[in-house]
Amino acid sequence: MTTRRELLQWTGGAAASAILPFGMAAQSATFPKGAVIRTLFKDYAPEELAGGATLFHEHLSLGPDFTNRFRAAAAAVLAAQGAPPAQRPAGPPPAPAGPDPMRDVDLMAEELRSAQRDGVACIVDASLEGSGADFDFIRSAAMKSGLPVVKGAGFYTEPFYPKEVAAMSEDDLVRALVRQADTYPAGVFGEIGSWDEMTAVERKVFRAVGKAHVATNLAVFTHTGIPGKAAIEQLDLLEDAGVDPKRVCIGHLGNLNDPNVYVHKTICRRGAFVGFDRQGGNGDANVVPLVIALLDAGFADHVLISGDASRGYARPVTSFLPKLKAAGADEATLQRIMVDNSRRFLAFVPKRARKV
Ligand SMILES: [Zn+2]
Repeated sequence: MTTRRELLQWTGGAAASAILPFGMAAQSATFPKGAVIRTLFKDYAPEELAGGATLFHEHLSLGPDFTNRFRAAAAAVLAAQGAPPAQRPAGPPPAPAGPDPMRDVDLMAEELRSAQRDGVACIVDASLEGSGADFDFIRSAAMKSGLPVVKGAGFYTEPFYPKEVAAMSEDDLVRALVRQADTYPAGVFGEIGSWDEMTAVERKVFRAVGKAHVATNLAVFTHTGIPGKAAIEQLDLLEDAGVDPKRVCIGHLGNLNDPNVYVHKTICRRGAFVGFDRQGGNGDANVVPLVIALLDAGFADHVLISGDASRGYARPVTSFLPKLKAAGADEATLQRIMVDNSRRFLAFVPKRARKV
């Protein structure tokens, strides 16, 4: 249920309320008995976070060299596949000029508070070991801001794995993943990634994440390359390891620019979520028709939207949603996607007691 106070909180953000007076529709999400959303500092009943959007894939800390490493990895993969340079789009939108909130915890806390004012109730940090993320920085920024932050666990993609991952057995990896989940503590596994051609080590990590899901019940969201060729294989690997597709989001599928949304619909039919998770920027125009096609096909309950951003976190709400609305999406559906789908995705009945 949405209380009056939550409605006011949600519509209180000037930008959000001017564009999308959310909170008008009744909350329709239901959750398993005992389900929680596990943030860094406490477990919430999912209903407690119904007052705004939950952004399921963002970054609060990455190493200073991350963007260059990412571009090099993505370009190398595409070049190896013979793609001409013109077809090698960059990954996340480039950060704007000015001081980098990732290097200043007070600026980052203000970014989080600003997102909260614009209607964000909860945010997931998808930055993993090996990508230069500073977890103490993330905890401090979350603490200072007061915004509930869910920490992701896992290993990202092969060029970013800590060096010991290649030699670890699948069972060793499962133990390492469960340890991460206990100690961060994590509320989800992600972003767990591959590029278009999965490597043997990436497959091993996906199987281990699937088994770690079985041990913990944490949901899993993924990273795919451009144009998302590994999407179905990622879902297959997780399902084969024992994960119900309902607990999976295959990510970055705004990069799979197929007007027929064939793969997107296949993922929805299997029960999983499709992540349009680099929204609120230049890539939106290509992605709006993909989202609308899924809504028209009856798959609104399988859509997740986020920004994959390192600042300006509210942009999926303040910038992307108005574009969907202009293209014909109704507000109740958009609210369901931003407020309900992301909580349904994250909410889990813990199999292990919270340790920290
Ligand atoms: Zn990401």
